[in-house]
Amino acid sequence: MLKLISTTKKFTGGEVVTTALNNIDLEIKAGEYVAVMGPSGCGKSTLLSILGLLDAPDGGEYWFHGQNVAGWSEVRLSELRRGRIGFIFQSFNLIEELSVDENVELAMEYASVPARERRERVAQMLDKLGVAHRAKHRPSQLSGGQQQRVAIARALVNRPSVLLADEPTGNLDTAHGEEVMRILQQINDEGTTIVMVTHSPAHAARASRTVGLLDGAIAELATAATNT
Ligand code: ADP
Repeated sequence: MLKLISTTKKFTGGEVVTTALNNIDLEIKAGEYVAVMGPSGCGKSTLLSILGLLDAPDGGEYWFHGQNVAGWSEVRLSELRRGRIGFIFQSFNLIEELSVDENVELAMEYASVPARERRERVAQMLDKLGVAHRAKHRPSQLSGGQQQRVAIARALVNRPSVLLADEPTGNLDTAHGEEVMRILQQINDEGTTIVMVTHSPAHAARASRTVGLLDGAIAELATAATNT
């Protein structure tokens, strides 16, 4: 479903070239729940950006749902992103000027879902994530756990096949983090593929498999984990 072949990503700043990803070979099958672990700067976010079509590799290949996306136009990539990929982040990234329901609805406006259907789906998703009673609130009026649940509602409302999560519990206390982990488990049980960056070995253990990264390369988990 997602396949990286000798994927490399370099960043050039002035005279310094950083190899963020170095010859990554990784295949993620439909329905998998994969945790990505490794020390700060090892390339985890870069890996998620490439998997999420936010950034293009500059070496190797990326196959998304059986198609090599090399050279695809930004329009085509953003269509794929909107329709097939959901993102959640450590910092929730909700829009403070919009209410909770408007935040979720906006994702569907971008995907050109008709207004009536949008409203139904917003209500369903907020209900499913247990934040329907906060629909008219602004994000900052919610607890961190509730904000992340709204962000998950927004990520799932277009029914993506894959959810990419960048340290989704990083800003949450243990109890709210656990709650988010239970939701992710349920989403995966319902068939959505998940790739989650985490620093928590306990959270990684909830995934069906863990990929370790070290200096931009796939590493033995023990090596990557002890450096976390
Ligand atoms: P992680 O998520 O594991 O902390 P990142 O993927 O953010 O790691 O970064 C991997 C490496 O690439 C780091 O050395 C980082 O400084 C570098 N890097 C990431 N993004 C950029 C960028 N936009 N410009 C320059 N260097 C970058």
